[in-house]
Amino acid sequence: MEIAIISGKGGTGKSSISAAFATLIGQPVVLADCDVDAANLHILFTPTHEEEQVYIAGQTAIIDYSICTHCGICMDYCRFDAIHSMDGKITISETSCDGCHLCARVCPHGAITMVDNDKSRMYSGAFRNGRMVYGRLAPGEENSGKLVNMVRDKAKAIAKDYNLENIIIDGPPGIGCAVISSITGTNHVVVVTEPTLSGLHDLKRALEIVEKFSLKAWVIINKYDLNDDMSRLIEQHCHEKGIPLAGKLPFNPSVVEAMVNLKSIIEWQPQSEFSRQIGAIWNTITQSK
Ligand code: SF4
Ligand code: SF4
Repeated sequence: MEIAIISGKGGTGKSSISAAFATLIGQPVVLADCDVDAANLHILFTPTHEEEQVYIAGQTAIIDYSICTHCGICMDYCRFDAIHSMDGKITISETSCDGCHLCARVCPHGAITMVDNDKSRMYSGAFRNGRMVYGRLAPGEENSGKLVNMVRDKAKAIAKDYNLENIIIDGPPGIGCAVISSITGTNHVVVVTEPTLSGLHDLKRALEIVEKFSLKAWVIINKYDLNDDMSRLIEQHCHEKGIPLAGKLPFNPSVVEAMVNLKSIIEWQPQSEFSRQIGAIWNTITQSK
């Protein structure tokens, strides 16, 4: 079973809940950190690095200055404003270059070549409750959705090799292509929200994406007691849309305490009411028909 945990925006507690799910069940899991722009569960779980794979996130143009005449033709053609002239010298900005190859084709001297963006990585190994896979997109590199696909494929292969039933996917926040790559084909998508106006707004957008792909959606209202009125509004919205509420969790400073101590809340306070509530949410989701 693949369960993706996402949120319409960052800071809702999505990763804390993913970490709790990953340490909750009495059997090992595959944990896939698909928040490739800001993967952080490896900091919490310190997995072994048994495998490292290079992810080619497109290409960047580079100039061979032993050939370039600084004629500026390439600059006129670049639609991404990645080529500039400074004191008569033509330069290409690595972060602005889209890798479209056009400059390499128009350069009359063949001074531009395309090189792979090879700084992004996917890692896999063991963590204390099973196996873990995570991707890290290098700053400025693109195509996060493809890296997410790579992480998910690896997670599925590991689940098969190690005979592990559950894959827990910590998805990225937002509604971009990395989110879509994180949720497509999963059995359950859990959208974590918080009781604020922007939380409700972002929840609606996230649910639209889940609906578009006809996936089974659940909602968790985290820190619901910080704003009871807004929590009720969110519940009402879920009710109107026919989206089941997996559960509500109160604000709990121990969640941060657990993170500071590199533990999930389940590991930090296994017998607490809060941990029991997370367990109940997990059961609600996984035991649903
Ligand atoms: S078109 Fe070629 S030669 Fe002209 S500035 Fe660009 S890289 Fe240099
Ligand atoms: S590859 Fe495309 S985006 Fe990059 S510098 Fe050349 S023309 Fe611009």
